[in-house]
Amino acid sequence: MRFATKPIRVGQDLDQDHRAVIQPLYQSATFGWKSLSDIPDIDYTRCQNPNRQTLEQIIASLENGKHCTVFASGMASIMGAFSLLQSGDHLLMASDIYGGTFRVAEKLLPRYGIQVTDICTKDPNSIEGHIRPNTKMIIFEGPTNPNLSVMDIAGIASVAKRNGLISVFDNTFASPYLQNPLDMGIDIVVHSTTKYISGHSDVIGGALITNSQEIHDQMFEYSKTVGAVPSPFDCWLTVRGLKTLAVRMKQHCENALAVAQYLEDHPKVAKVHFPGLPSHPDYELAKKQMKDFGGMVSFEVKGTGEDACTFAEGCSIFLLAESLGGVESLIGYPPLMSHATMTEEQRVAKGIPATLIRLSVGIEDKDDLIEDIAQALAKIPAREAVGV
Ligand SMILES: *Cc1c(COP(=O)(O)O)cnc(C)c1O
Repeated sequence: MRFATKPIRVGQDLDQDHRAVIQPLYQSATFGWKSLSDIPDIDYTRCQNPNRQTLEQIIASLENGKHCTVFASGMASIMGAFSLLQSGDHLLMASDIYGGTFRVAEKLLPRYGIQVTDICTKDPNSIEGHIRPNTKMIIFEGPTNPNLSVMDIAGIASVAKRNGLISVFDNTFASPYLQNPLDMGIDIVVHSTTKYISGHSDVIGGALITNSQEIHDQMFEYSKTVGAVPSPFDCWLTVRGLKTLAVRMKQHCENALAVAQYLEDHPKVAKVHFPGLPSHPDYELAKKQMKDFGGMVSFEVKGTGEDACTFAEGCSIFLLAESLGGVESLIGYPPLMSHATMTEEQRVAKGIPATLIRLSVGIEDKDDLIEDIAQALAKIPAREAVGV
């Protein structure tokens, strides 16, 4: 089965009671036993549920993985990966990583006796220098948030393999439509299914995919033990959203490229970060590694942080909100939103100046999106007029 067919047909034969085309919602906490000697496959929803099982089968197939465990959020799935570590272990974490992952690794893991080193993952060859005898895992992502840097996934996976580390890759920004990290040698892929996978900004969820039976068994044990599981209805909604992943991603990519090209030529824009522009430093790597360039674009306005805020508040089709990957276009202003807990100095060191805007480009008509951007950029005062 090919990619676009999988979310529509994997694990979704007609229902056995009424031949319903869509799997019914099994909104039940518990399932009856026929007898004490006949243990049901599914007996309690914290452990497993039919809607969850279907979602896991679909996501595993989309990532070309053998096993998937879904979680109540993307963060819960990342915590699932971290649960493979124990006191005394050392974790390598990409410095360019999702803020929530950073928070867990910096604040929570050290309390459990796990050491964490924050490293640059741009050059796979530089990673070996950070490996200690107790290094157990490396976690990274890409395109990254918010600068959309692309990492050499196969290169980093092979360094990890050579040194006996578990490699974990957060594929949220790309979605399985654009790249399948397990095929590039990664051990564990995690997703916030809140984003492109569910695709409609109506559910919070996570997933962890692996080809290792041993890791999968540990994830099943972990999720049922801590109970960080999604509800049947959240799984049902995610299955419904997933069916259109391929068509949505095509449109996200087409619209984002048009928006990025428009911004690049605009006199009020200083810099555009989009891996599909030849001016992006990772353009060649992105072309080689990804099927297309994704739906996320960030850019720096020419001027001040105040000008960036004028733009962010001046759009009407793009909504000012956190998150990404839904059908609707969203604007994020990282200094006050996703990266608000960092100091300005930390942000600048990570390439997040006060003038940076992040766009999650949706699947609306791209001319409406570009007109909206044009009118919001027009609200930024001309630099000569304010004497900058
Ligand atoms: C949103 C996000 C997460 C966290 O996911 P939640 O579903 O919000 O818990 C993790 N990684 C990346 C890259 C994200 O964008």
